[in-house]
Amino acid sequence: MCSGRVDLAYVLRAFANGIDGVFIGGCRLNECNYITHGNYHALNMVLLAKRIIEHVGLDPARLRIDFMSGSEGNLFAETVNDFVGQIKELGPLGQKEGLADIERNARLAAVTRLVPYIKVEKQEKLGVRLGNPQDYAGYFTKEEVDELLNNVASYYIDPQKCQACMTCARRCPAEAVISAKNQIHVIDQEKCIKCGTCLTACPAKFGAVTKLTGAPPPPLPEAERTVVRKSKEKTG
Ligand code: SF4
Ligand code: SF4
Repeated sequence: MCSGRVDLAYVLRAFANGIDGVFIGGCRLNECNYITHGNYHALNMVLLAKRIIEHVGLDPARLRIDFMSGSEGNLFAETVNDFVGQIKELGPLGQKEGLADIERNARLAAVTRLVPYIKVEKQEKLGVRLGNPQDYAGYFTKEEVDELLNNVASYYIDPQKCQACMTCARRCPAEAVISAKNQIHVIDQEKCIKCGTCLTACPAKFGAVTKLTGAPPPPLPEAERTVVRKSKEKTG
């Protein structure tokens, strides 16, 4: 019902499926019937998504958002016809950009996997509603998004601090925490979607999860994962 419901992952998935252009139509800005103003969320998401597809090597003009009311059928038809013409000029996805299908799909798959991470990192800006649409010029910069995607964070459990309380494993949405009773927990970096939930879930008294830039240290071998309780360490 609302353009604000269009998730960044849907847009990237459409391109990953070989769609040549994506158009999102939303209600006119500042005319939302609700206090949510979801069309601003859609606008923020599209501005970010344009930078992401640019980072991937695709022309950001392949993604467009426009705002109109339900009674403006003529405007909708004109806008969509204009967009279709523009996409026809650009041609099949990746062709004008000189990006082979295999490379394009691999790049799109890689950024799609980072959607939870991107949303956490850009949470604040994605939720902002600037009063004047003109203020959105350069809202997300190329440098900012390149920096975000070139220096992807990773999450790491410090084996010296983990007390095997299992909270992170229960809360992880991707089943990426290797968990067993009385065993130091380990993050499976292949499964981790970098959502940051474990960082906030780990009790402050343990503070075992850290956020790093780049690759984390190698995981502790399985045979060395038996947890040493802090209380026992003191009495022993
Ligand atoms: S960041 Fe933590 S909670 Fe999120 S997927 Fe990775 S291991 Fe799971
Ligand atoms: S929440 Fe923290 S202390 Fe508990 S198992 Fe996870 S990393 Fe270890």
